[in-house]
Amino acid sequence: MASVNRQWLLASRPQGKVEESNFRLVEADPPPLAEGQLRVRVDFLSLDPYMRGRMDEARSYAPSQKIGEVMVGGTVGEVVESRNPRFPVGETVVGTGGWQEQFVSDGSGLLRVGGRGLPSSVWLGAAGMPGITAWYGLRRIGRPAAGETVLVSAATGAVGSVAGQLARLAGCQAVGVAGGGAKCEHAVRDLGYAACVDHRAPNFRQALRAAVPKGIDVVFENVGGAVLDAALARMNDHGRVALCGLIAGYDGVPIPITNVRPILVNRLLVQGFIVTDHMPLWEEAMAELAGHLRAGRLVYRETVARGIESAPGAFLGMLRGENLGKQLVRMAP
Ligand code: NDP
Repeated sequence: MASVNRQWLLASRPQGKVEESNFRLVEADPPPLAEGQLRVRVDFLSLDPYMRGRMDEARSYAPSQKIGEVMVGGTVGEVVESRNPRFPVGETVVGTGGWQEQFVSDGSGLLRVGGRGLPSSVWLGAAGMPGITAWYGLRRIGRPAAGETVLVSAATGAVGSVAGQLARLAGCQAVGVAGGGAKCEHAVRDLGYAACVDHRAPNFRQALRAAVPKGIDVVFENVGGAVLDAALARMNDHGRVALCGLIAGYDGVPIPITNVRPILVNRLLVQGFIVTDHMPLWEEAMAELAGHLRAGRLVYRETVARGIESAPGAFLGMLRGENLGKQLVRMAP
């Protein structure tokens, strides 16, 4: 293991859009292990939209990231040194190691994922937190019945790609909303959406209307703003909106909802959720998602940046929509 640990710290809070200067790369000496501890070499770092929220000071469901501390982040890696019998050397573990090349843990919050017949990176994507988010929001809030129409925004991303495929596997008509023609083609060709609408196209509202001729029964909402507003106008009676994310507003841009009336007249259920409130369901969700992946019923894409130096740039790119599927950093260049 390298004798120096490179880490990205939060250097300053963003004013509006995140900039690379909000992060600082430092080198730290890895501490020796105490009894009960283990050292993990990070192989993949997950870059997720929630990190944008943690960089602000505003009140949220989780505390803000402190300035000068290692950026929070999900990781998968290998145990390279251990004084903890539950985590032997060579074991693959998923956890929240943060934006750094290695970390020391007492094992709490770490999950062993080796020997499950899947590449380790999927435990940060389709079979990990984003996949579980899709599973929870769709199953427990959306509750789609076969034959219903399910609209998924950010349809090709880490969460959306799983939500859309789970909706199709449930016998629904899954319709995606994504940024640009290439993502929409991928949504229909590879992910099995019945249709996909480009939210950047000037005729977005008309195209959405045409893509859901029977109206919308379930919205799996990742974006907010104009996308959610257009979706609300097409909802059927007793429709459900699983409010998963509002990425269109994460830089502080206002995202007003003007179509409030359908919530009343169509008797809609609109429910926000945070996946980490539902930890007791994670094992069940992971087992089901892993089963679908092994059987080839669920497919996934990854956008992989190389080397720890690339993390801030890749994070900014993901927030701009440059990722196809799960955005990762592979620590080995
Ligand atoms: P993605 O892999 O979907 O990447 C983010 C995507 O958001 C971009 O690729 C882009 O896709 C889209 N996007 C960004 N800005 C805008 C915008 N202004 N308008 C429309 N689309 C935009 O990320 P995740 O799958 O990891 O996360 C998706 C959502 O789920 C986020 O809102 C996130 O916060 C939320 N989330 C919520 C959780 C919970 O517990 N509630 C847990 C995990 C994630 P495109 O190019 O298609 O526009």
